[in-house]
Amino acid sequence: MVLRRFDVHKVTSVAEAVALRQRYGEDAAVYAGGTELLLAMKLGVARWPHLIDIKPIAALRTLAVTKDLVRIGATVTHWDLERDPAVANVLPVFARLEANVANVRVRAAGTLAGNLAFAEPHADPPALLVALGARVILEGPTGTRNLLVSDLLTGMYQTAIAPDEVIVAIEIPLPARDVRMAYVKFQVLERPSVGVAAVATVRDGKFVGPPAIVIGSVDEVPRAVPAAELAGALAGDPRTAEALAEAASAAVDPSDDLAGSAEYKRHVVGVFVRRALGQLMAGAA
Ligand SMILES: Cc1cc2nc3c(=O)[nH]c(=O)nc-3n(C[C@H](O)[C@H](O)[C@H](O)COP(=O)(O)OP(=O)(O)OC[C@H]3O[C@@H](n4cnc5c(N)ncnc54)[C@H](O)[C@@H]3O)c2cc1C
Repeated sequence: MVLRRFDVHKVTSVAEAVALRQRYGEDAAVYAGGTELLLAMKLGVARWPHLIDIKPIAALRTLAVTKDLVRIGATVTHWDLERDPAVANVLPVFARLEANVANVRVRAAGTLAGNLAFAEPHADPPALLVALGARVILEGPTGTRNLLVSDLLTGMYQTAIAPDEVIVAIEIPLPARDVRMAYVKFQVLERPSVGVAAVATVRDGKFVGPPAIVIGSVDEVPRAVPAAELAGALAGDPRTAEALAEAASAAVDPSDDLAGSAEYKRHVVGVFVRRALGQLMAGAA
């Protein structure tokens, strides 16, 4: 594993980063924590002669919790997120998810923006971010645009980020106080094999509207489970759990690989959907 020669451009503004993206095109990559980027370069599966180091941009390092949303700057790390008291207060399930990403060395350097931009399918945050309706804020030569995380991730290692754009932040809209959420995962390898996010409002024991159930790590992109007919269903009824587990197993399109056969993965998806519902019902709103 030998790294080929490359130049690192340290930038102090997003405008500079965008200008370098325009100038070098496919020859340049944004460099945040480097946990995926440098690994890919060392393994020789990717080569960028120019890295645009965005860590010196002070504005991207901010993490803010307002009454409406959590705004996570592009260089905020997993470690920052798991330890932030305001995030733990408003989105405890997200804070716990972040604390269980990879290992502490990866979390200390790796960013949430880098996790999304790399679009490795075996990842934890995307399923919950999709279930919560989170969006990424991108900046390019013509200005700013917002994209739902569900629209950002288009395939394995593929996103809707234009070659001259940079993610500047991720925004998670804060759900109403009585919204419940859960995230559970199955992981035997270095990265998750199945992740299930569940977000729902339950009143008088019934779902208010359909529950948002999103399966991560199984398909190339997070898969939302069709659940419209479960609006108003008894949330704690085993028949509801069964219906959701079946719908989830049918919604995913797994392939046979090191993590197991497609049939096995469909089974695990069903098991983890039931667990997510159990956690959703057991946890406080
Ligand atoms: C050993 C290991 C175990 C892991 N386990 C897990 C796990 O269990 N769960 C999980 O969810 N993830 C896991 N990961 C993935 C981890 O979360 C990511 O490596 C990390 O978040 C990437 O962030 P980074 O800042 O290091 O990105 P970098 O490596 O710097 O960049 C990654 C990619 O994103 C692009 N990029 C980065 N920032 C931006 C930006 N602002 N705008 C546009 N493009 C950008 C880069 O150009 C590059 O293509 C694991 C990774 C490793 C190495």
